[in-house]
Amino acid sequence: MRHLLILGGTTEGRTLAAALDGRPSLRVTSSLAGRVAQPRLPAGEVRIGGFGGPEGLAAWLRTERVDAVVDATHPFAAGISQNAALAAAATGVPLLVLRRPGFTPAPGDRWHPVPSLAAAAELLPRLGERVFLSIGRQGIAAFAHLDGPHFLARSVDPPEPPVPPRFEVLLDRGPFTLDGERALLREHRIDVLVTKDSGGAATAPKLTAARELGLPVVIVERPPVPEGAPVAPDVPGALRWLEQVEQLEEPEEPEQLP
Ligand code: NAP
Repeated sequence: MRHLLILGGTTEGRTLAAALDGRPSLRVTSSLAGRVAQPRLPAGEVRIGGFGGPEGLAAWLRTERVDAVVDATHPFAAGISQNAALAAAATGVPLLVLRRPGFTPAPGDRWHPVPSLAAAAELLPRLGERVFLSIGRQGIAAFAHLDGPHFLARSVDPPEPPVPPRFEVLLDRGPFTLDGERALLREHRIDVLVTKDSGGAATAPKLTAARELGLPVVIVERPPVPEGAPVAPDVPGALRWLEQVEQLEEPEEPEQLP
């Protein structure tokens, strides 16, 4: 029985777990951080909560006899990706980073790329007064000091303080449709969008809607992928990598006795 650990919290992590569910001789464990109160659970075994840094993760890989790791975490979850790279290097367990490509600009886009949420907050007051913050709940504190703009934030669970003084929250979970995003931007009279370069079809409609309405978009650039591990852009790529890993490590045929 071989054991695969999927570091999840994304659509890709769930899709990969579902694709491998029920395969003979393969145990798949998905790991979630535990940030969302009621997460969408992947198929198969699931564990929830941090490992305790790279050392904790390395110890887990050894104790649970993990044969391969797929880091299918969100492109902005830089801490766990770094930990996975360190733990894989320390244990010799093969690691793949499953990272969807970022958003691609199209004609008509008015994008303002920035390196961080802090830089987004600095730029924002020059671009608009009614802001749609589509960055998840964890980064909202970076905008808490801005008392000029009105903020509409969307997240799965309610954000914790600090939040900006003129602040409204919309609790919702994707995928979102183009019609829905268009209506949302219009109804709330949004004049600037802030988003991370998460990539993925499920979150792209807000960018199309912003383009149609001619709105500026402050787009936070991704942290780099840790060096060393191969990267696959999608679940089929991850499945191909797993096949290669299996072939490399297939036990040799026992020698035939004369
Ligand atoms: P992070 O800053 O990279 O990680 C912080 C710590 O959380 C890690 O050191 C680790 O704790 C724990 N952790 C993170 N992901 C984990 C996982 N899949 N399984 C077990 N422990 C995990 O992570 P984050 O940005 O807070 O994101 C947390 C989770 O939410 C990730 O799994 C990610 O896929 C998902 N997510 C993040 C975003 C985002 O914008 N950041 C968006 C959507 C989904 P220990 O050091 O104790 O092991």
